Order: sequence, then structure tokens, then C-alpha cells
Amino acid sequence: MDFYLLAFMLILLFGSVLVYVYYLKEKKEQLDSIRRGFCPKCKQDSIELSDQRSGGCSGPKMLTFECLSCGYTNSFAVDPSDGSCGSGGCR
Ligand SMILES: [Zn+2]
Repeated sequence: MDFYLLAFMLILLFGSVLVYVYYLKEKKEQLDSIRRGFCPKCKQDSIELSDQRSGGCSGPKMLTFECLSCGYTNSFAVDPSDGSCGSGGCR
């Protein structure tokens, strides 16, 4: 009986990891598309940045994009890798 419980939990754990990895991959592909200037949903170049929030130097930036033609909207946490926060300048 314990073995079945353990097997069940392993399957559950494995399943949730797979879902998470798939979710991250999906998210990354959408962000790639948006970075190229296209909506990941309708493939039009009508995507635009509607909101931008920064959690300070250490935290990632929250970027919210919105598509003007199909209404697609999504937020992404982006690492501040553009160098503006380098060398502790804004701490
Ligand atoms: Zn769209």
C-alpha cells in the first residue's frame, strides 16, 4: 500500500515538474516573439508595452504587453540584464 502511495506521489511530482517546464518554455517562446515585435497569438506587429514595473535593482522587472488587434495580454518577469543596474549605481 505504501509503495502505491509513493508511486502516486512520484507521478504527481513528475507531472507538475513537466507542466512547469512546459509553462516556462511556452512563456519564453511568447517573450521571444514579443521581443521581435510580434504578438504570439495573432502574429500581428501590434504588440505594445502597456505597463512596466521594477522591483528595484535586485528584483526582476515586470513587463506587461498588450496586443492592440486581438487583445492578448501577458506579463513577464525580465531580469534587468541591460546593465543599467550594474556596479550598484542605483542602490
Ligand atoms: Zn494579437
